[in-house]
Amino acid sequence: MKRTVTLRVNGEKPERSVIRAAAEIIRSGGLVAFPTETVYGLGADALNPEAVRRIYAAKGRPLDNPLIVHIADRRDVYRLADDVPSAAEDLMDFWPGPLTLVLRASGIVPRETTGGLDTVAVRMPNHEVALALIRESGVPIAAPSANLAGRPSPTTAMHVKQDLDGRIDMILDAGPTAIGVESTVLDLTSKPPQVLRPGGLPFEELRRIIHDVRLHPSAVAERELRIAVAASPGMKHKHYSPKAQLILVEGETSALISKIQELVSRYNRHGKKVGVLATDETQRHYQADVIKSLGSRGDTSFMAKNLFRLLREFDDEGVDVIIAEGVPLRHLGLAVMNRLRKASGFNIVRAD
Ligand code: AMP
Ligand code: MG
Repeated sequence: MKRTVTLRVNGEKPERSVIRAAAEIIRSGGLVAFPTETVYGLGADALNPEAVRRIYAAKGRPLDNPLIVHIADRRDVYRLADDVPSAAEDLMDFWPGPLTLVLRASGIVPRETTGGLDTVAVRMPNHEVALALIRESGVPIAAPSANLAGRPSPTTAMHVKQDLDGRIDMILDAGPTAIGVESTVLDLTSKPPQVLRPGGLPFEELRRIIHDVRLHPSAVAERELRIAVAASPGMKHKHYSPKAQLILVEGETSALISKIQELVSRYNRHGKKVGVLATDETQRHYQADVIKSLGSRGDTSFMAKNLFRLLREFDDEGVDVIIAEGVPLRHLGLAVMNRLRKASGFNIVRAD
């Protein structure tokens, strides 16, 4: 058991003293949780195999699930990757931002960081604290989301503390994250390039820059796919799950409402405490033990921002079952639905 120090830090103008203390930990092989624009990350020196192994241990993360390497200078891509296609250079215009590029790994990247793959995932986060920490550390920082493996990702320092207190050295707290879902992961080693995980950069925006780009089947799967060799090992692991059982109901809005109310009554009859993850437009139609709204169905960015926090809140209120409304698949709705489908373990009910 370690003592985990939490330090407040200014998100726009990070205090030098705080960044120096955190960078010192990174350089000596320790673990620092820090804010990015997507979710909080759990950082270690990406080029130090022992430090990276500590990330897996702290999270309870399977060793074959690789980490994203965070950089603060584009030039670092050419050190971390062997082959940087011209599409990658165009896409770096989204940096700093919620886009992760998967490229052929160079020899300097340890196997621990790539989960044993010959590719490396790289991104430049759009957050002053993350950028200052990377610069001050002088090394690229490997950072998965700063939650226990399988749990909803952390969007506040408090979420990180709930999961990792006593397991890591430091938490930098700059308040809630802006986007609320993880980065979009784009594999540039496949032809055509494929989105392995929809995330904070909408697919519609990616397509404006590279026209020939696909969504990997598992990124949009409505049921669990049996993939012999998962393109992104993260695809095959349990993810984003609250303690409560989550059931996702998909369909057109009025059918959704009656199906969800029917399910609430059924679980209530069995003595279960039931929560509904609703939207602004629908929430007044439900009667349940706990009702929470993701936001307006028209504002997918706002829904993305709230998603992981609300899943954790249902657990705090001790609900046994969460029944979640499906949301529109456009913009960040695609990332929200990808997380909800996985969180449900593909327990998806069609309402027609
Ligand atoms: P997390 O940062 O916890 O959201 O997890 C990082 C995600 O990026 C996981 O889904 C990984 O499987 C994926 N990822 C990281 N590196 C690679 C890689 N080299 N190839 C494919 N996917 C990767
Ligand atoms: Mg994660």
